[in-house]
Amino acid sequence: MTNKSELDYESQLEKDAFNLHACISMTNARGDITYVNQKFCELSGYSADELLGQNHRILLSAQHPDSFYEEMWQTISSGQIWEGEICNKSKARECYWVKATIVPCIDKKGEPDKYICYQTDVTSLKRNNDSLSLTLEATGDAIWEWNIETGSFNVTPRYEAMLGYDTGELKPTIDAWVESVHPDDLESVQTVIYDYLDGKRDNYYSELRLKAKDGSWRWIYCRGKVILRDKDNKPITMMGLHTDITDEKNLKDALYIAKEKAELANQAKSTFLTNMNHELRTPLNSILGFAQLLASGRNDNVLSATQRDRVETILSSGQYLLSLIDDILELAAIESGKISLAVESVDLSKLISEVITLVKPAADTANIKVNMLFGPKLTVEADYRRLKQVLLNLITNAIKYNRQDGSVLIQVEQHADQVARIKVTDTGIGISTENQQRVFEPFNRLGYEASDICGSGIGLSVTRELVKMMNGTLGFSSEENVGSKFWVDLKTVVDINDNFSSL
Ligand code: ADP
Repeated sequence: MTNKSELDYESQLEKDAFNLHACISMTNARGDITYVNQKFCELSGYSADELLGQNHRILLSAQHPDSFYEEMWQTISSGQIWEGEICNKSKARECYWVKATIVPCIDKKGEPDKYICYQTDVTSLKRNNDSLSLTLEATGDAIWEWNIETGSFNVTPRYEAMLGYDTGELKPTIDAWVESVHPDDLESVQTVIYDYLDGKRDNYYSELRLKAKDGSWRWIYCRGKVILRDKDNKPITMMGLHTDITDEKNLKDALYIAKEKAELANQAKSTFLTNMNHELRTPLNSILGFAQLLASGRNDNVLSATQRDRVETILSSGQYLLSLIDDILELAAIESGKISLAVESVDLSKLISEVITLVKPAADTANIKVNMLFGPKLTVEADYRRLKQVLLNLITNAIKYNRQDGSVLIQVEQHADQVARIKVTDTGIGISTENQQRVFEPFNRLGYEASDICGSGIGLSVTRELVKMMNGTLGFSSEENVGSKFWVDLKTVVDINDNFSSL
Protein backbone atom coordinates (compact mmCIF):
# COMPACT_ATOMS: atom_id res chain seq x y z
CA MET A 1 0.00 0.00 0.00
CA THR A 2 1.25 3.53 -0.76
CA ASN A 3 1.84 5.77 2.23
CA LYS A 4 0.99 9.50 2.44
CA SER A 5 4.48 10.81 1.72
CA GLU A 6 4.67 8.66 -1.41
CA LEU A 7 1.31 10.04 -2.50
CA ASP A 8 2.48 13.63 -1.87
CA TYR A 9 5.63 12.96 -3.84
CA GLU A 10 3.69 11.53 -6.79
CA SER A 11 1.21 14.38 -6.80
CA GLN A 12 4.11 16.90 -6.75
CA LEU A 13 5.73 15.08 -9.68
CA GLU A 14 2.46 15.17 -11.56
CA LYS A 15 2.11 18.91 -10.94
CA ASP A 16 5.68 19.57 -12.07
CA ALA A 17 5.18 17.58 -15.25
CA PHE A 18 1.93 19.40 -15.92
CA ASN A 19 3.50 22.79 -15.33
CA LEU A 20 6.29 21.94 -17.71
CA HIS A 21 3.90 20.74 -20.40
CA ALA A 22 0.99 23.20 -20.27
CA CYS A 23 0.16 26.83 -19.67
CA ILE A 24 -2.08 27.05 -16.67
CA SER A 25 -4.09 30.03 -15.54
CA MET A 26 -6.89 30.61 -13.05
CA THR A 27 -9.51 33.34 -12.99
CA ASN A 28 -12.28 34.33 -10.62
CA ALA A 29 -15.91 34.24 -11.68
CA ARG A 30 -15.54 37.60 -13.48
CA GLY A 31 -12.59 36.34 -15.52
CA ASP A 32 -9.92 38.28 -13.60
CA ILE A 33 -6.64 36.38 -13.56
CA THR A 34 -5.70 35.03 -10.13
CA TYR A 35 -2.93 32.60 -11.09
CA VAL A 36 -0.58 31.96 -14.00
CA ASN A 37 2.25 29.44 -14.24
CA GLN A 38 5.71 30.11 -15.70
CA LYS A 39 4.84 28.46 -19.05
CA PHE A 40 1.83 30.80 -19.42
CA CYS A 41 4.06 33.84 -18.86
CA GLU A 42 6.63 32.57 -21.37
CA LEU A 43 4.01 32.06 -24.09
CA SER A 44 2.09 35.29 -23.53
CA GLY A 45 5.22 37.39 -23.03
CA TYR A 46 3.74 38.99 -19.87
CA SER A 47 5.22 38.63 -16.39
CA ALA A 48 3.03 37.18 -13.66
CA ASP A 49 2.83 40.66 -12.06
CA GLU A 50 1.54 42.14 -15.29
CA LEU A 51 -1.15 39.48 -15.58
CA LEU A 52 -2.45 39.03 -12.06
CA GLY A 53 -5.57 41.09 -11.44
CA GLN A 54 -6.05 41.73 -15.18
CA ASN A 55 -9.07 40.36 -16.97
CA HIS A 56 -8.42 37.41 -19.30
CA ARG A 57 -9.54 39.73 -22.11
CA ILE A 58 -6.00 41.17 -22.09
CA LEU A 59 -5.08 38.24 -24.36
CA LEU A 60 -7.99 38.72 -26.75
CA SER A 61 -7.08 38.67 -30.47
CA ALA A 62 -9.26 39.91 -33.28
CA GLN A 63 -9.25 36.41 -34.75
CA HIS A 64 -12.60 35.22 -33.35
CA PRO A 65 -16.07 36.76 -33.63
CA ASP A 66 -17.87 37.90 -30.45
CA SER A 67 -20.17 34.88 -30.73
CA PHE A 68 -17.16 32.59 -30.17
CA TYR A 69 -16.39 34.13 -26.77
CA GLU A 70 -20.11 34.37 -25.88
CA GLU A 71 -20.58 30.67 -26.49
CA MET A 72 -17.45 29.82 -24.47
CA TRP A 73 -18.58 32.01 -21.56
CA GLN A 74 -22.06 30.53 -21.64
CA THR A 75 -20.63 26.98 -21.44
CA ILE A 76 -18.30 27.58 -18.51
CA SER A 77 -20.63 29.88 -16.57
CA SER A 78 -23.23 27.12 -16.71
CA GLY A 79 -20.69 24.81 -15.05
CA GLN A 80 -19.61 22.86 -18.15
CA ILE A 81 -16.12 22.25 -19.43
CA TRP A 82 -15.16 24.10 -22.61
CA GLU A 83 -12.62 22.74 -25.06
CA GLY A 84 -11.38 24.32 -28.22
CA GLU A 85 -8.66 26.20 -30.04
CA ILE A 86 -8.14 29.87 -29.27
CA CYS A 87 -6.01 32.46 -30.91
CA ASN A 88 -4.49 34.79 -28.28
CA LYS A 89 -2.46 37.96 -28.61
CA SER A 90 0.88 38.15 -26.79
CA LYS A 91 2.38 41.23 -25.12
CA ALA A 92 4.37 41.75 -28.35
CA ARG A 93 0.97 41.83 -30.13
CA GLU A 94 1.68 38.62 -31.97
CA CYS A 95 -0.94 35.92 -32.41
CA TYR A 96 -0.40 32.47 -30.95
CA TRP A 97 -2.73 29.48 -30.97
CA VAL A 98 -3.54 27.30 -28.00
CA LYS A 99 -5.62 24.19 -27.55
CA ALA A 100 -7.51 25.02 -24.36
CA THR A 101 -9.59 23.23 -21.76
CA ILE A 102 -11.42 25.48 -19.31
CA VAL A 103 -12.71 23.78 -16.20
CA PRO A 104 -15.19 25.65 -13.97
CA CYS A 105 -14.85 25.09 -10.19
CA ILE A 106 -18.28 24.98 -8.57
CA ASP A 107 -18.86 26.56 -5.15
CA LYS A 108 -21.23 25.38 -2.44
CA LYS A 109 -24.14 27.20 -4.06
CA GLY A 110 -23.52 25.16 -7.18
CA GLU A 111 -22.17 28.13 -9.16
CA PRO A 112 -18.73 28.52 -10.71
CA ASP A 113 -16.54 30.68 -8.49
CA LYS A 114 -13.32 30.21 -10.45
CA TYR A 115 -12.07 28.76 -13.70
CA ILE A 116 -8.90 26.79 -14.38
CA CYS A 117 -7.58 26.98 -17.90
CA TYR A 118 -5.11 24.46 -19.35
CA GLN A 119 -3.52 25.44 -22.64
CA THR A 120 -1.11 23.78 -25.07
CA ASP A 121 0.76 25.81 -27.65
CA VAL A 122 -0.32 24.61 -31.12
CA THR A 123 0.87 27.65 -33.11
CA SER A 124 3.36 25.82 -35.32
CA LEU A 125 0.93 22.94 -35.90
CA LYS A 126 -1.75 25.44 -36.85
CA ARG A 127 0.61 27.28 -39.21
CA ASN A 128 1.62 24.02 -40.89
CA ASN A 129 -2.03 23.06 -41.24
CA ASP A 130 -2.91 26.48 -42.58
CA SER A 131 -0.15 26.43 -45.17
CA LEU A 132 -1.09 22.87 -46.16
CA SER A 133 -4.73 23.93 -46.55
CA LEU A 134 -3.71 26.99 -48.54
CA THR A 135 -1.45 24.92 -50.78
CA LEU A 136 -4.19 22.36 -51.35
CA GLU A 137 -6.71 25.11 -52.00
CA ALA A 138 -4.34 26.68 -54.53
CA THR A 139 -3.68 23.40 -56.31
CA GLY A 140 -7.26 22.22 -56.00
CA ASP A 141 -6.02 18.81 -54.81
CA ALA A 142 -7.89 16.58 -52.37
CA ILE A 143 -6.50 14.28 -49.68
CA TRP A 144 -7.49 10.71 -48.87
CA GLU A 145 -6.37 8.41 -46.10
CA TRP A 146 -6.89 4.65 -46.26
CA ASN A 147 -6.58 2.42 -43.24
CA ILE A 148 -5.61 -0.84 -44.90
CA GLU A 149 -6.41 -2.89 -41.81
CA THR A 150 -9.86 -1.54 -41.05
CA GLY A 151 -10.83 -0.57 -44.60
CA SER A 152 -11.79 2.97 -43.61
CA PHE A 153 -11.21 5.55 -46.33
CA ASN A 154 -11.40 9.16 -45.14
CA VAL A 155 -11.35 12.08 -47.49
CA THR A 156 -11.22 15.88 -47.28
CA PRO A 157 -14.29 17.95 -48.26
CA ARG A 158 -12.42 18.93 -51.43
CA TYR A 159 -12.40 15.26 -52.47
CA GLU A 160 -16.16 15.06 -52.20
CA ALA A 161 -16.61 18.42 -53.93
CA MET A 162 -14.44 17.17 -56.81
CA LEU A 163 -17.08 14.52 -57.48
CA GLY A 164 -20.02 16.83 -56.84
CA TYR A 165 -20.88 15.55 -53.34
CA ASP A 166 -21.55 17.55 -50.19
CA THR A 167 -19.24 17.15 -47.23
CA GLY A 168 -19.84 13.86 -45.42
CA GLU A 169 -22.02 12.44 -48.18
CA LEU A 170 -19.59 9.74 -49.32
CA LYS A 171 -19.31 6.48 -47.39
CA PRO A 172 -15.85 6.49 -45.76
CA THR A 173 -14.92 2.94 -46.78
CA ILE A 174 -12.49 1.51 -49.30
CA ASP A 175 -15.31 -0.64 -50.70
CA ALA A 176 -17.28 2.51 -51.54
CA TRP A 177 -14.17 3.88 -53.21
CA VAL A 178 -13.66 0.71 -55.25
CA GLU A 179 -17.28 0.91 -56.36
CA SER A 180 -16.74 4.44 -57.61
CA VAL A 181 -13.81 3.47 -59.88
CA HIS A 182 -14.62 2.99 -63.57
CA PRO A 183 -14.81 -0.78 -64.29
CA ASP A 184 -12.27 -0.42 -67.12
CA ASP A 185 -9.72 1.19 -64.79
CA LEU A 186 -10.21 -0.91 -61.67
CA GLU A 187 -7.98 -3.86 -62.48
CA SER A 188 -4.98 -1.77 -63.51
CA VAL A 189 -5.35 0.55 -60.50
CA GLN A 190 -5.58 -2.37 -58.09
CA THR A 191 -2.53 -4.01 -59.67
CA VAL A 192 -0.48 -0.83 -59.22
CA ILE A 193 -1.62 -0.35 -55.60
CA TYR A 194 -0.97 -3.95 -54.57
CA ASP A 195 2.38 -4.03 -56.38
CA TYR A 196 3.32 -0.92 -54.40
CA LEU A 197 2.09 -2.38 -51.10
CA ASP A 198 3.97 -5.63 -51.82
CA GLY A 199 7.15 -3.62 -52.44
CA LYS A 200 7.27 -4.53 -56.15
CA ARG A 201 7.34 -0.85 -57.09
CA ASP A 202 8.70 2.24 -55.34
CA ASN A 203 5.68 4.48 -55.70
CA TYR A 204 2.00 4.48 -56.38
CA TYR A 205 0.38 6.70 -58.98
CA SER A 206 -2.30 6.10 -61.53
CA GLU A 207 -4.84 7.83 -63.73
CA LEU A 208 -8.37 6.58 -63.25
CA ARG A 209 -11.98 7.57 -63.68
CA LEU A 210 -14.20 8.07 -60.65
CA LYS A 211 -17.97 8.29 -60.80
CA ALA A 212 -19.32 11.73 -59.87
CA LYS A 213 -22.66 12.25 -58.12
CA ASP A 214 -24.33 13.19 -61.43
CA GLY A 215 -23.21 9.89 -62.97
CA SER A 216 -20.47 11.41 -65.14
CA TRP A 217 -16.86 10.20 -64.96
CA ARG A 218 -14.10 12.48 -63.70
CA TRP A 219 -10.50 11.72 -64.64
CA ILE A 220 -8.35 11.69 -61.51
CA TYR A 221 -4.59 11.62 -61.11
CA CYS A 222 -4.16 9.63 -57.91
CA ARG A 223 -0.91 9.14 -56.01
CA GLY A 224 -0.18 7.99 -52.49
CA LYS A 225 2.32 6.74 -49.99
CA VAL A 226 2.32 4.37 -47.02
CA ILE A 227 2.63 6.56 -43.93
CA LEU A 228 2.37 3.91 -41.25
CA ARG A 229 3.67 0.32 -41.00
CA ASP A 230 3.59 -2.20 -38.20
CA LYS A 231 6.68 -3.73 -36.61
CA ASP A 232 6.82 -6.36 -39.38
CA ASN A 233 6.83 -3.56 -41.95
CA LYS A 234 3.30 -4.42 -43.01
CA PRO A 235 1.54 -1.31 -44.40
CA ILE A 236 -1.17 0.00 -42.06
CA THR A 237 -2.10 3.40 -43.44
CA MET A 238 -1.76 4.94 -46.86
CA MET A 239 -2.32 8.60 -47.63
CA GLY A 240 -2.51 10.38 -50.94
CA LEU A 241 -3.75 13.10 -53.24
CA HIS A 242 -6.33 13.33 -55.97
CA THR A 243 -6.03 15.85 -58.78
CA ASP A 244 -8.89 16.37 -61.21
CA ILE A 245 -7.39 16.07 -64.71
CA THR A 246 -10.66 15.74 -66.64
CA ASP A 247 -10.16 18.96 -68.62
CA GLU A 248 -6.60 18.03 -69.59
CA LYS A 249 -7.72 14.55 -70.59
CA ASN A 250 -10.57 15.90 -72.71
CA LEU A 251 -8.21 18.35 -74.37
CA LYS A 252 -5.71 15.59 -75.04
CA ASP A 253 -8.46 13.42 -76.54
CA ALA A 254 -9.67 16.31 -78.70
CA LEU A 255 -6.10 16.95 -79.87
CA TYR A 256 -5.63 13.27 -80.61
CA ILE A 257 -8.82 13.18 -82.69
CA ALA A 258 -7.84 16.41 -84.47
CA LYS A 259 -4.39 14.96 -85.18
CA GLU A 260 -5.91 11.75 -86.52
CA LYS A 261 -8.23 13.78 -88.72
CA ALA A 262 -5.36 15.98 -89.94
CA GLU A 263 -3.30 12.90 -90.73
CA LEU A 264 -6.19 11.40 -92.71
CA ALA A 265 -6.69 14.70 -94.54
CA ASN A 266 -2.99 14.83 -95.26
CA GLN A 267 -3.05 11.33 -96.64
CA ALA A 268 -6.04 12.25 -98.82
CA LYS A 269 -4.15 15.32 -99.99
CA SER A 270 -1.09 13.24 -100.89
CA THR A 271 -3.22 10.84 -102.90
CA PHE A 272 -4.93 13.80 -104.58
CA LEU A 273 -1.53 15.31 -105.40
CA THR A 274 -0.19 12.14 -106.94
CA ASN A 275 -3.37 11.64 -108.97
CA MET A 276 -3.64 15.24 -110.09
CA ASN A 277 -0.01 15.44 -111.01
CA HIS A 278 -0.64 12.65 -113.48
CA GLU A 279 -4.23 13.49 -114.47
CA LEU A 280 -3.52 17.14 -115.28
CA ARG A 281 -0.04 17.01 -116.70
CA THR A 282 -0.48 14.06 -119.08
CA PRO A 283 -3.31 15.52 -121.21
CA LEU A 284 -1.79 18.99 -121.06
CA ASN A 285 1.59 17.74 -122.22
CA SER A 286 -0.03 16.01 -125.21
CA ILE A 287 -1.94 19.21 -126.07
CA LEU A 288 1.32 21.16 -125.91
CA GLY A 289 3.20 18.46 -127.83
CA PHE A 290 0.70 18.41 -130.70
CA ALA A 291 0.47 22.21 -130.74
CA GLN A 292 4.27 22.40 -130.99
CA LEU A 293 4.17 19.86 -133.84
CA LEU A 294 1.60 21.97 -135.66
CA ALA A 295 3.58 25.17 -135.08
CA SER A 296 6.82 23.58 -136.32
CA GLY A 297 5.27 23.00 -139.75
CA ARG A 298 6.57 19.45 -139.83
CA ASN A 299 4.50 16.59 -141.35
CA ASP A 300 3.75 18.97 -144.27
CA ASN A 301 1.44 21.07 -142.15
CA VAL A 302 1.05 24.37 -143.83
CA LEU A 303 -0.81 26.72 -141.54
CA SER A 304 -2.47 29.92 -142.52
CA ALA A 305 -1.51 33.05 -140.55
CA THR A 306 -4.76 32.85 -138.51
CA GLN A 307 -4.19 29.17 -137.82
CA ARG A 308 -0.61 29.90 -136.73
CA ASP A 309 -1.88 32.64 -134.40
CA ARG A 310 -4.37 30.22 -132.87
CA VAL A 311 -1.77 27.50 -132.40
CA GLU A 312 0.49 30.09 -130.71
CA THR A 313 -2.41 30.93 -128.36
CA ILE A 314 -2.85 27.22 -127.56
CA LEU A 315 0.87 27.03 -126.82
CA SER A 316 1.08 30.13 -124.59
CA SER A 317 -2.15 29.31 -122.75
CA GLY A 318 -1.02 25.71 -122.32
CA GLN A 319 2.37 26.85 -120.96
CA TYR A 320 0.58 29.20 -118.55
CA LEU A 321 -1.72 26.39 -117.43
CA LEU A 322 1.24 24.07 -116.93
CA SER A 323 3.09 26.59 -114.76
CA LEU A 324 -0.14 27.22 -112.80
CA ILE A 325 -0.52 23.49 -112.17
CA ASP A 326 3.12 23.38 -111.10
CA ASP A 327 2.53 26.23 -108.63
CA ILE A 328 -0.65 24.74 -107.17
CA LEU A 329 0.83 21.29 -106.79
CA GLU A 330 3.95 22.76 -105.26
CA LEU A 331 1.97 24.77 -102.69
CA ALA A 332 -0.07 21.68 -101.81
CA ALA A 333 3.11 19.60 -101.54
CA ILE A 334 4.70 22.18 -99.20
CA GLU A 335 1.57 22.37 -97.05
CA SER A 336 1.45 18.60 -96.64
CA GLY A 337 5.16 18.45 -95.81
CA LYS A 338 5.98 16.49 -98.95
CA ILE A 339 8.99 18.59 -99.90
CA SER A 340 12.41 17.79 -98.59
CA LEU A 341 15.35 20.15 -98.89
CA ALA A 342 18.99 19.54 -99.67
CA VAL A 343 20.66 22.18 -97.51
CA GLU A 344 24.22 23.07 -98.44
CA SER A 345 26.57 26.07 -98.46
CA VAL A 346 25.38 28.43 -101.18
CA ASP A 347 27.58 31.17 -102.61
CA LEU A 348 25.16 34.10 -102.96
CA SER A 349 27.04 36.03 -105.68
CA LYS A 350 27.09 32.97 -107.94
CA LEU A 351 23.42 32.19 -107.34
CA ILE A 352 22.21 35.77 -107.88
CA SER A 353 24.24 36.12 -111.11
CA GLU A 354 22.47 33.01 -112.41
CA VAL A 355 19.05 34.40 -111.49
CA ILE A 356 19.81 37.73 -113.18
CA THR A 357 20.76 35.91 -116.38
CA LEU A 358 17.40 34.14 -116.27
CA VAL A 359 15.33 37.31 -115.73
CA LYS A 360 17.33 39.52 -118.13
CA PRO A 361 15.16 38.88 -121.20
CA ALA A 362 11.96 39.79 -119.32
CA ALA A 363 13.64 42.87 -117.80
CA ASP A 364 14.90 44.00 -121.23
CA THR A 365 11.46 43.54 -122.75
CA ALA A 366 9.91 45.68 -120.01
CA ASN A 367 12.81 48.14 -120.19
CA ILE A 368 13.69 47.63 -116.54
CA LYS A 369 17.28 47.86 -115.35
CA VAL A 370 18.41 45.13 -112.94
CA ASN A 371 21.43 46.09 -110.83
CA MET A 372 23.33 44.07 -108.28
CA LEU A 373 25.23 45.53 -105.32
CA PHE A 374 27.42 43.24 -103.27
CA GLY A 375 28.81 43.78 -99.83
CA PRO A 376 31.06 41.10 -98.35
CA LYS A 377 31.27 37.68 -100.01
CA LEU A 378 28.61 35.68 -98.23
CA THR A 379 27.77 32.00 -98.14
CA VAL A 380 24.48 30.86 -96.66
CA GLU A 381 22.91 27.60 -95.52
CA ALA A 382 20.21 26.87 -98.10
CA ASP A 383 18.84 24.51 -100.73
CA TYR A 384 20.43 25.83 -103.92
CA ARG A 385 17.53 25.06 -106.25
CA ARG A 386 14.87 26.32 -103.80
CA LEU A 387 16.72 29.55 -102.99
CA LYS A 388 17.04 30.15 -106.73
CA GLN A 389 13.28 29.68 -107.02
CA VAL A 390 12.73 32.17 -104.15
CA LEU A 391 14.92 34.87 -105.67
CA LEU A 392 13.53 34.24 -109.14
CA ASN A 393 10.04 34.88 -107.78
CA LEU A 394 11.01 38.07 -105.91
CA ILE A 395 12.99 39.53 -108.82
CA THR A 396 10.35 38.55 -111.39
CA ASN A 397 7.72 40.30 -109.25
CA ALA A 398 9.97 43.37 -108.96
CA ILE A 399 10.10 43.47 -112.76
CA LYS A 400 6.41 42.60 -113.33
CA TYR A 401 5.03 45.17 -110.88
CA ASN A 402 7.49 47.91 -111.86
CA ARG A 403 6.84 51.09 -113.85
CA GLN A 404 8.01 52.08 -117.32
CA ASP A 405 11.82 52.53 -117.33
CA GLY A 406 11.99 51.53 -113.68
CA SER A 407 14.76 49.61 -111.99
CA VAL A 408 15.45 46.72 -109.64
CA LEU A 409 18.33 46.65 -107.17
CA ILE A 410 19.59 43.44 -105.62
CA GLN A 411 21.75 43.83 -102.52
CA VAL A 412 23.46 41.33 -100.30
CA GLU A 413 24.57 42.44 -96.87
CA GLN A 414 25.62 41.09 -93.52
CA HIS A 415 22.49 41.87 -91.56
CA ALA A 416 23.34 40.57 -88.10
CA ASP A 417 25.83 38.17 -86.63
CA GLN A 418 25.68 35.10 -88.89
CA VAL A 419 22.71 36.42 -90.87
CA ALA A 420 22.86 37.45 -94.51
CA ARG A 421 20.14 39.62 -96.01
CA ILE A 422 19.28 39.49 -99.71
CA LYS A 423 17.25 42.57 -100.58
CA VAL A 424 15.26 43.15 -103.78
CA THR A 425 14.17 46.77 -104.19
CA ASP A 426 12.01 48.01 -107.05
CA THR A 427 10.76 51.38 -108.19
CA GLY A 428 7.31 50.04 -109.01
CA ILE A 429 3.69 50.53 -108.18
CA GLY A 430 4.05 49.40 -104.58
CA ILE A 431 1.40 47.75 -102.42
CA SER A 432 -1.23 49.75 -100.52
CA THR A 433 -1.19 49.53 -96.70
CA GLU A 434 -4.55 47.75 -96.80
CA ASN A 435 -3.28 45.11 -99.26
CA GLN A 436 -0.02 44.53 -97.41
CA GLN A 437 -1.75 42.24 -94.88
CA ARG A 438 -2.95 39.97 -97.69
CA VAL A 439 0.23 39.69 -99.71
CA PHE A 440 0.89 36.09 -98.62
CA GLU A 441 -2.66 34.84 -99.10
CA PRO A 442 -2.59 32.13 -101.78
CA PHE A 443 -4.41 33.04 -105.00
CA ASN A 444 -4.89 36.66 -103.93
CA ARG A 445 -3.53 38.90 -106.66
CA LEU A 446 -4.55 42.06 -104.80
CA GLY A 447 -6.54 43.51 -107.67
CA TYR A 448 -4.32 42.45 -110.59
CA GLU A 449 -6.57 39.54 -111.58
CA ALA A 450 -7.92 41.35 -114.61
CA SER A 451 -4.68 43.12 -115.54
CA ASP A 452 -2.32 42.13 -118.33
CA ILE A 453 0.36 41.29 -115.73
CA CYS A 454 0.27 37.53 -115.62
CA GLY A 455 0.41 35.57 -112.39
CA SER A 456 -1.50 33.19 -110.17
CA GLY A 457 -1.10 34.78 -106.72
CA ILE A 458 0.71 31.71 -105.39
CA GLY A 459 4.35 32.73 -105.85
CA LEU A 460 4.78 34.65 -102.59
CA SER A 461 3.03 31.98 -100.49
CA VAL A 462 5.35 29.32 -101.87
CA THR A 463 8.33 31.66 -101.47
CA ARG A 464 7.57 32.33 -97.82
CA GLU A 465 7.13 28.63 -97.03
CA LEU A 466 10.37 27.72 -98.76
CA VAL A 467 12.29 30.42 -96.85
CA LYS A 468 10.77 29.16 -93.60
CA MET A 469 11.85 25.61 -94.47
CA MET A 470 15.41 26.89 -94.89
CA ASN A 471 15.17 28.40 -91.37
CA GLY A 472 15.12 31.88 -92.83
CA THR A 473 12.62 34.75 -92.80
CA LEU A 474 10.95 36.68 -95.55
CA GLY A 475 10.04 40.33 -94.96
CA PHE A 476 8.90 43.29 -96.99
CA SER A 477 8.03 46.96 -96.89
CA SER A 478 6.22 48.87 -99.56
CA GLU A 479 4.87 52.28 -100.41
CA GLU A 480 2.21 52.80 -103.03
CA ASN A 481 3.53 54.45 -106.21
CA VAL A 482 7.06 54.51 -104.79
CA GLY A 483 8.11 50.87 -104.78
CA SER A 484 8.59 47.72 -102.73
CA LYS A 485 11.43 46.08 -100.91
CA PHE A 486 11.38 42.31 -100.27
CA TRP A 487 14.16 40.64 -98.30
CA VAL A 488 15.25 37.19 -97.26
CA ASP A 489 17.33 36.60 -94.13
CA LEU A 490 19.34 33.39 -94.01
CA LYS A 491 21.95 31.94 -91.72
CA THR A 492 25.48 32.41 -93.03
CA VAL A 493 28.08 29.68 -93.12
CA VAL A 494 31.25 30.58 -91.23
CA ASP A 495 34.17 30.14 -93.57
CA ILE A 496 36.96 28.57 -91.47
CA ASN A 497 39.58 29.59 -94.02
CA ASP A 498 38.45 33.23 -93.78
CA ASN A 499 38.82 33.07 -90.02
CA PHE A 500 42.32 31.67 -90.33
CA SER A 501 43.36 34.23 -92.90
CA SER A 502 42.27 37.06 -90.62
CA LEU A 503 44.45 35.73 -87.76
P1 ADP B 1 1.56 36.71 -108.66
O1 ADP B 1 1.64 35.44 -109.41
O2 ADP B 1 0.24 37.37 -108.75
O3 ADP B 1 2.68 37.65 -108.98
P2 ADP B 1 2.63 36.51 -105.97
O4 ADP B 1 2.21 35.54 -104.93
O5 ADP B 1 4.04 36.46 -106.38
O6 ADP B 1 1.66 36.26 -107.14
O7 ADP B 1 2.27 37.94 -105.43
C1 ADP B 1 1.02 38.19 -104.86
C2 ADP B 1 0.58 39.60 -105.14
O8 ADP B 1 1.42 40.52 -104.44
C3 ADP B 1 0.72 40.00 -106.58
O9 ADP B 1 -0.40 39.63 -107.34
C4 ADP B 1 0.86 41.51 -106.47
O10 ADP B 1 -0.40 42.12 -106.35
C5 ADP B 1 1.60 41.71 -105.17
N1 ADP B 1 3.07 41.87 -105.36
C6 ADP B 1 4.03 40.95 -105.28
N2 ADP B 1 5.25 41.49 -105.46
C7 ADP B 1 5.05 42.81 -105.69
C8 ADP B 1 5.92 43.93 -105.94
N3 ADP B 1 7.24 43.79 -106.02
N4 ADP B 1 5.36 45.13 -106.13
C9 ADP B 1 4.01 45.29 -106.04
N5 ADP B 1 3.14 44.29 -105.82
C10 ADP B 1 3.66 43.07 -105.63
